[in-house]
Amino acid sequence: MASRIQRPRKRRMLSLTVQGSEQPSPHFMTVTLGGEDVQYLERSGFDQAGRLFFADPDDAAEVFLPSSERWILQLTLQGGKQRPRVRTYSIRRFRPEASAFDIEVSLHAVDSPGAAAPGTRWARAAEPGTRVAFLDEGHSYAPVAGAAWQLLVGDESALPAILAILEQSAASLPAEVFLEVPSPDDIRSDIKAPPGSTVHWLPRTDAGAKPGALALDAVRQARLPEGRFCTFTAGESSLATGVRRHLVGERGVAKSDIAFRGYFSHGRASL
Ligand SMILES: Cc1cc2nc3c(=O)[nH]c(=O)nc-3n(C[C@H](O)[C@H](O)[C@H](O)COP(=O)(O)OP(=O)(O)OC[C@H]3O[C@@H](n4cnc5c(N)ncnc54)[C@H](O)[C@@H]3O)c2cc1C
Repeated sequence: MASRIQRPRKRRMLSLTVQGSEQPSPHFMTVTLGGEDVQYLERSGFDQAGRLFFADPDDAAEVFLPSSERWILQLTLQGGKQRPRVRTYSIRRFRPEASAFDIEVSLHAVDSPGAAAPGTRWARAAEPGTRVAFLDEGHSYAPVAGAAWQLLVGDESALPAILAILEQSAASLPAEVFLEVPSPDDIRSDIKAPPGSTVHWLPRTDAGAKPGALALDAVRQARLPEGRFCTFTAGESSLATGVRRHLVGERGVAKSDIAFRGYFSHGRASL
């Protein structure tokens, strides 16, 4: 489920390498991707995201990385072992001066590395020179004209998109932000946001809890500012759909003022 996605007018499969990585907090890894092909990335901003194609670090086979936007066709022609993993990540930060951009991968199942998912394993193992392919998938959110403020709600998978939205928002559009993170150590202190914004950090205390439940509950109980607002909500599917249902059903918000996207489904791996 999703709101209307604005796909780039022109796009091509980018052939990139990892330039570096750093771990800002226990459950996040920032990975910088770069190369000459970054010149072909059209910057639409806000929650702009793309598909990342990568070799599973546990798989020694020589993996094929697609070179065309018709990647599904290319991959069906490959044997199982040659097929790369594909996961979607938001563009956290553009670095045009370095022909690069950052993604931030939320690390889950970190306490049981054997069980960790491919995206998490890849981000932990990524080192300069690691080859990837990246295909821009555009964005779904842009502030609505006439809104006095914006509501941004997400769990850890949406933290990169929400921080990017905050950094790119006009100074005249304050935000009320509800951000659920896996632990208190994942709370950021260096947020750039429009003046008058409030960030409600919601660290989980129960490691087994379903991501997004805390944020949904917080929004349901919140006293929100007056005036028309536009919303971006993303993360675990029940969070995105739950926030939308609550805003429309109980707060009378117009559906057209809400951008919502399920980023993953609890208990189900991405294909
Ligand atoms: C448009 C878009 C933008 C996205 N941007 C980002 C981003 O910037 N950063 C980011 O980290 N993710 C982002 N995601 C979500 C990411 O693509 C999924 O979380 C993906 O499933 C991660 O792959 P994986 O290999 O880690 O886990 P998978 O192999 O897909 O899943 C394995 C298990 O882990 C669970 N799981 C998956 N993701 C999470 C999670 N984040 N937290 C807890 N449990 C999880 C699944 O339910 C499943 O049970 C985005 C998704 C979309 C559609």
